Amino acid sequence: MKKVDYIIVGFGLSGLHFAKKLIDENKSFVVFDDNSENASLVAGGIFNPVILKRFNLAWNADLLLTHAKEVYESLERLLGVKFLHSKPIYRRFNSVEEQNDWFSASDQSQLSKFLNTDLKKSIPYIQSEFSFGEVNKTGYLDTVLLIKSFKNYLQQQGNFIEEAFNYNELNSAKNSYKDFTFNKIVFCEGNGLSLNPFFNDLPLVGNKGEYVTIKCEGLNLEEMLKFSLFLIPLGNDLYKVGATYNRQFKDREPSTSAKKQILIKLDKVLELPYEVVHQEAGIRPTTKDRRALIGRHSEIKNFYVNNGYGSRGILLAPSAAKWLFNFIEYQQELPKEIDIARFN
Ligand SMILES: Cc1cc2nc3c(=O)[nH]c(=O)nc-3n(C[C@H](O)[C@H](O)[C@H](O)COP(=O)(O)OP(=O)(O)OC[C@H]3O[C@@H](n4cnc5c(N)ncnc54)[C@H](O)[C@@H]3O)c2cc1C
Repeated sequence: MKKVDYIIVGFGLSGLHFAKKLIDENKSFVVFDDNSENASLVAGGIFNPVILKRFNLAWNADLLLTHAKEVYESLERLLGVKFLHSKPIYRRFNSVEEQNDWFSASDQSQLSKFLNTDLKKSIPYIQSEFSFGEVNKTGYLDTVLLIKSFKNYLQQQGNFIEEAFNYNELNSAKNSYKDFTFNKIVFCEGNGLSLNPFFNDLPLVGNKGEYVTIKCEGLNLEEMLKFSLFLIPLGNDLYKVGATYNRQFKDREPSTSAKKQILIKLDKVLELPYEVVHQEAGIRPTTKDRRALIGRHSEIKNFYVNNGYGSRGILLAPSAAKWLFNFIEYQQELPKEIDIARFN
């Protein structure tokens, strides 16, 4: 039997950041992942503290952003790979009212550092009757590169097992699972939580999201663009465009209906020809109250869950890992908004 401090089930952004926290805190662990979910791999990669529909800050955004940057930079140093890229977002305005709302929002002290009041009049080949507002301190995280690099690192250390975690083989009385004994187990399965018999009573709602990748020569856009969708430059004339939201999905495969929906919106703003080169889909783990699901099992005191990041996993995951770790090891209270105790 191999003894570890922690077992982590799932290696999306949730499990990944918890593993990073355990490395920082000198705890032993093993990760299980079976590639059954992929929200973190298909994510747009945008980190952005501002809600661009209403021009207000997302929950705890400033704090999450500061901590996330520190952790991603620390991961870059650990893995020797660059995956965090600062990039502004240009928000395309649909009306004069929206422009006015932008100026009102930028007057608020907590938003002023994010919303640039020098509007951009036009962007070549992007149709617009109105200007564009620049959001600062935003950026793009190459989640695929991050996850692959970290997985590779953990495999070399011998603490990553690429297989499905079988809940039937978990012995909560003996704290054992197959060849392992453990002190604590943290479940990070994203939408796969519905198959977890210990936490599947939590109100997690899957929300399917899809992106297409286009090749568009001549656009030469370096910044991210927000219109009714996001357009994210990937380099080499490639741009990710999306995403869709769908709670009534039947499967996790890319769909023709989502592709059509995206291209109709894209055709309204992009004034250059393009070619669709790729399409991908994933299931966001969301909740009705738009808050994460983090905390301890009501009866089995060393079983924990770290889930429900919705559409903001990139900013939330580093702080969630810190909060959960401090809760487990130092009995520090979780923020009540994300604590699963709110459903008791
Ligand atoms: C289309 C789309 C676009 C998005 N864009 C953004 C964005 O731009 N910015 C942003 O911040 N967020 C974005 N998100 C949201 C973000 O991707 C999620 O909040 C986040 O990735 C969720 O991470 P997770 O680790 O909880 O889940 P996941 O990434 O789904 O990871 C769960 C992991 O658990 C594993 N697993 C599940 N069950 C088992 C089992 N029984 N045994 C072993 N392993 C198991 C799966 O294989 C998977 O690797 C987007 C999501 C989608 C779908």
